Amino acid sequence: MAGDNVQNARRTRRVGVMGGTFDPIHHGHLVAASEVAHLFHLDEVVFVPTGRPWQKDMSKVASAEHRYLMTVIATAENPQFRVSRMEIDREGPTYTIDTLREMRSEYGPGVSLFFITGADALGAILSWRNVDEMFDLAHFVGCNRPGHRLTDTGLPDGKVSLVEVPALAISSSECRERVRKGEPIWYLVPDGIVRYVNKTGLYLDDRMTGGGH
Ligand code: ATP
Ligand code: MG
Repeated sequence: MAGDNVQNARRTRRVGVMGGTFDPIHHGHLVAASEVAHLFHLDEVVFVPTGRPWQKDMSKVASAEHRYLMTVIATAENPQFRVSRMEIDREGPTYTIDTLREMRSEYGPGVSLFFITGADALGAILSWRNVDEMFDLAHFVGCNRPGHRLTDTGLPDGKVSLVEVPALAISSSECRERVRKGEPIWYLVPDGIVRYVNKTGLYLDDRMTGGGH
């Protein structure tokens, strides 16, 4: 019956997954998540701070708890956004494939996952292991990002959408560098993040900030 179809369609949850180091989270991340939520009619976006990003030198990354708390602070006011501790609490290095598998089993069969990435991350993902299974577990959404080329070269048909989001030339690296040099990060990151960074003294020097995880 038509009514049943409508009910089934409603039961399929459309969930965005925004992975990142979020060191710190900034308005580029938030605008990308918000725009993709709008364009793809998502019910929610789950931000997943990485535990130990295997691509990054952990001695240079703020502790998982700092990054998790900043992600919570930055997303708290948006009822569509939530933060998962999944990668932070998992032992060993972080692989996105494990996160997508865990999300699928958490939500059950009635979920469509949309993995949100910027142009730089999308390019890198193609070189990851298990890339075919990842494309089966989630639809990938690549967002433009100033300074990086968003191209469909090498992308499998129908598994990835490339979308235009309002372009913000902001990166976490630049925010950290600005704090280290005593330059303001107001309006690049949410106000609560400016205050959290000031309060904790994060990024004031190059040393490990808070013990890593
Ligand atoms: P870093 O400079 O430390 O690498 P970053 O700004 O790239 O930090 P990440 O936590 O590495 O932030 O990025 C998480 C995800 O958000 C990635 O998919 C990245 O491509 C995307 N992203 C980051 N900044 C932007 C931006 N300004 N516009 C669009 N996407 C972005
Ligand atoms: Mg990055």
